[in-house]
Amino acid sequence: PQGPALLEVRDLHGWYGESHVLHGVSLDLHEGETITLVGRNGAGKTTTLRAIMNLLPRREGLIRIAGADMMKVPVHRTAYSGIGYVPEERGIFATLTVSENLMLPPTVAPGGMSIEEIYDLFPNLAERRDSPGTKLSGGEQQMLAIARILRTGVKIILLDEPTEGLAPVIIQRIGDVLMELKKKGMTLLLVEQNFRFARKVADRFFLMEDGHILESFPTSELDARMDRLHEVVGV
Ligand code: ATP
Repeated sequence: PQGPALLEVRDLHGWYGESHVLHGVSLDLHEGETITLVGRNGAGKTTTLRAIMNLLPRREGLIRIAGADMMKVPVHRTAYSGIGYVPEERGIFATLTVSENLMLPPTVAPGGMSIEEIYDLFPNLAERRDSPGTKLSGGEQQMLAIARILRTGVKIILLDEPTEGLAPVIIQRIGDVLMELKKKGMTLLLVEQNFRFARKVADRFFLMEDGHILESFPTSELDARMDRLHEVVGV
């Protein structure tokens, strides 16, 4: 990738209380690009996403979006910098219906999708519009969580294991949605253990171990590096 990164992370450290978990994460994500963070359990992938979103009690280092320093931006203002987060636990409101969930997110930037656009992209959510979150399948919850972020108009989305626990046909559907978002020019950072899924959507892979990035490479090199990947990721 050429030119300045849209999201730039340099030497990012992060702590939970006394526990120093991120040891200098550096990565760059260019506009319209999709990258995937891989690494074994506990490597710090989720913590990296949380640190970028300013959800850790303590972090140090440098994070820039479109050149602007993010380190002083309070957590409730991060979305206004154009970045959204779909956590592994999805964060939808269980007692509210699909349509109510879709009405809550604030528009933070032009280009936030209308409810109609959301239902075009996720026809199954349209069918379930009056169902409460508790009644949705795992796949529907994941789609609702992504849809909520799309309502806001952010251009960068961090997704933590979007395929976890889902059936192959639903995983395929989520892959189609992410490809659609890429076509629209969205910039995506995935944490994903499912390589078959990740290779379809990602442009580059970042290999993480012990709280830092070991190496990164384009998806075209994935096959050649599979042994190395299995060694680091342990699957
Ligand atoms: P996983 O796939 O298991 O979520 P991960 O790569 O996302 O793996 P993290 O969840 O970021 O890893 O965890 C990194 C380290 O931080 C681990 O050692 C974990 O035990 C620790 N950790 C995670 N969350 C907390 C927390 N809330 N308090 C204290 N330590 C935590």
